[in-house]
Formats: sequence, structure tokens, C-alpha cells
Amino acid sequence: MASALSDKLSRLVKEMRGQARITEANVQDMLREVRMALLEADVALPVVRDFIARVKDKAMGHEVVGSLNPGQALVGIVNRELVATMGEGVSDINLAAQPPAVILMAGLQGAGKTTTTAKLAKHLIEKRRKKVLTVSGDVYRPAAIEQLRTVTKQAGAEWFPSSPEQKPLDIARAALDHARKQYFDVLLVDTAGRLAIDEVLMREIRDLHAALNPVETLFIVDAMQGQDAVNTAKAFREALPLTGIILTKMDGDSRGGAALSVRQITGAPIKFAGVSEKIDGLEVFDAERHAGRILGMGDIVALVEQVTAGVDMQAAQKLAAKVKSGEGFDLNDFLAQIQQMKQMGGLSTLMEKMPSQIQAKAGQVDMDKAERDIRRKEGIICSMTPAERRKPDIIKATRKRRIAAGAGVHVQEVNRLLNEFEQMQGMMKKMKGGGLMKMMKRMGA
Ligand code: GDP
Repeated sequence: MASALSDKLSRLVKEMRGQARITEANVQDMLREVRMALLEADVALPVVRDFIARVKDKAMGHEVVGSLNPGQALVGIVNRELVATMGEGVSDINLAAQPPAVILMAGLQGAGKTTTTAKLAKHLIEKRRKKVLTVSGDVYRPAAIEQLRTVTKQAGAEWFPSSPEQKPLDIARAALDHARKQYFDVLLVDTAGRLAIDEVLMREIRDLHAALNPVETLFIVDAMQGQDAVNTAKAFREALPLTGIILTKMDGDSRGGAALSVRQITGAPIKFAGVSEKIDGLEVFDAERHAGRILGMGDIVALVEQVTAGVDMQAAQKLAAKVKSGEGFDLNDFLAQIQQMKQMGGLSTLMEKMPSQIQAKAGQVDMDKAERDIRRKEGIICSMTPAERRKPDIIKATRKRRIAAGAGVHVQEVNRLLNEFEQMQGMMKKMKGGGLMKMMKRMGA
């Protein structure tokens, strides 16, 4: 479902390809497309307007206007702006208060407050080593109190009893008193789900807030809510000083637009994401990954564009066919591969486009050195005669010395390259299916 926006942007990028340079007028056209795409992803209209205005500012600057690849540049800006907006000020639960630190859970009925209260209790116990007490202020639904009792037990936390005959304020005060006396570090207060239009209930939660002075007031919101998320968020923001958001049901097929809407409307950081009904289904919110969800596949869109723009597809296909037919993979092909890599903008540019997980894994590799190596290899192959490139077997001592001198390297380096080539040749024979084409197909080219 997240594909709506990504499809739009991919199409947009394709349309822009071939257009030499972009003008201000073109930026307007492109922004209209981005706007439509965000709306389709269920980002609320006022939020879209704001977001587009910010992207426009950046696009009008040097980043897109004058860029050789405006589509890619714009996708890049949209992605970065999404990450910046959603990731700003993200931090773990704040417990910097005289214990017990009180956490107030607010949101619509069915948003996932009770489930999330237990998930959070488990998180605080396991990750922060805290002693946690939960209490339900939902005096309107006896089943809700029971539900909290059950999930609190699953979380390994303690539950403070309450009953429908009591007033929420009295329950909260009694729980706070108990938490103090029993040296709990954290008191999690689950509340009745309320509709934003319900003035009485909104006043009730304001009173709860005043009495409890919570260190965190969390707004629990269903990620599937789409456009409505904005009205809900507005009402809660007006009633309460929200300190954080937890987006639930992120395991559903929502388009993810609610995250951007709620973040922008409340100004509060998205701290966690609920990813299953189970008690351990809570993850620290990852803005980059979520931007990837909204865009379909993150900066991969830009990567695909870069790869397809840079690579001579005919040459790549010819190479693949050659390998497939079993015809020898020679040094000319090896050189072609190296040159394709260069056309794609070099290793480090490619790496910048990769998802952060891959970047982290590759972090140990010295990119500068790798690129220098590639250039030296190119130099060595270019110093060979066409016959040598076709039949590397004929390269013996004398030829090696000549090639080394021509490329300005030691003979050992020529040997190393020939060894490497042999290994690759062996690998190519095994693959037989044309690895490069497969790789490019997988990337959506
Ligand atoms: P409350 O009325 O706000 O307390 O909401 P509940 O905690 O009772 O949750 C409402 C429903 O949403 C329940 O069926 C939960 O199991 C479900 N739910 C809550 N969080 C998640 C989540 O992150 N993923 C999924 N799939 N379901 C969730």
C-alpha cells in the first residue's frame, strides 16, 4: 500500500529523465505531482501544504534548479525532508522526574492505548530496568480495566486495581500514592478512549494531567487513521501538552501518511511504533525507515534512477548474454564492469544511496582506497593490447613488465589483477544467468 507515493515519484523521476535542466516552472509541475502523491498516501491536506512549501524552498535553491538530474534531486529532497520532519527530537521515554515518573496515555478509543501501556511497561522493565506500576482510569468500560490487568501481567509489571464506581481522579491519586510508598520508578496511567468532540471527557483528561503532573504525556494514535488523524491530533494537542507520540498498528497496510500529519500537527516527537498485537510488538520509531515506507523504498528510488541513467543498458545486456551463452568472459568485460561502476557515480556515491543498514555494514570498508584500486585496475587493463585482453593466458613475464610500466605500477599488481580476473571468470561461469542483469532487475531498472 505504501507504493502509491513511491509509484508516483518513480514515474515523476522517469518523466524528468532526459530533460536536460530544470527551470522554476518545471519545479512547480514536479511539486504538484509530489503534492498529489502525498495526498494519495493519506497525508492530511494542511500538512501537505506545509510540507510542500518547505520542499519548494529547497528545490528552488541550487539543489534542483540547475541539477543535471532534477527528478532524482527532488526525490532526494522529499526523502530528506520526510526524515527531518519525522525524526526531529526523537528520544526514548523521559523518566527525569522525582520517582515515580508518571506517564499519561491519551488517545481515541481503540487506538491501542491499553495494549501500548503494557508494551511500554515491558520496554521500561527490560530496557531501562525500572519497577513499573500500571493503572486504568477507564471507569466507563469495566472490561478495559480487566484488559489492562491481563496485559500488565504479561508484561511482568504490577497492576493497581480500580473500579467503575470510582472517579478517574481518585483512582489516579490512589495509584500515585501507592507507587510512591512502594518505590515504583514509573506509573503508567491508561485512560478511557475519548472522542475529540466529547468536551466532558476532554476536560477529565486535562484534570488528570493537572493532578498527576506527568513527565510524559503520550498521544497514542492508530497509523491506519489517515486523514482523520489530523483532527484527532489537533484536539488532543489543544487539550494537553503532549510530549510524545506512539503510532500503533504499523504492521497494518497503512500508507504511513498519518505519521507525518500527526508529527507536524502536534509538534511532538514520534517515540515508538506498535508493530503487532503482541506484548513485545513495540519498536523505537525509525524516521529513516518510515520515510522509506512512505516513499515505498527510501532512497532506493534515487539509486535506481542513478543506476539506469548511468549505465549503458545495451552494453550491460550484451555482457549478460555473453556470460549466459558461455562465451568467454574476458578482460574487456572486466574493464566494462569497472567502467560501469564509474558511470554510476563511484562507490561512495552509490553507498550514500543505500539503506542505512547496508551502509553500516559497509562502514568498515575504506571507500577512497576502493575507488583508487578501481582506477589503478582500469589503468592496467588499458595498458594491454586487444589480443591480451581477449586472451589473458598469453600474458607472460615480458608482457607483464611492459603492462606494469605502461600503467605505472609494480608487476605484482598486474599479477594480482590477473588472479582476481580469473576468480571472477570462474564466478561468472557459475552464475551463468547474468548476475548484473539480475541485480539490476531486482533494483527495478
Ligand atoms: P484502546 O481502546 O486504545 O485501549 O485500544 P486497545 O489497546 O484495546 O487496542 C485495540 C485493538 O488494537 C486491540 O485489538 C489490539 O490488539 C489492537 N492493537 C493495538 N496495538 C496494535 C498494533 O501495534 N498492531 C496491531 N496489529 N494491533 C494492535
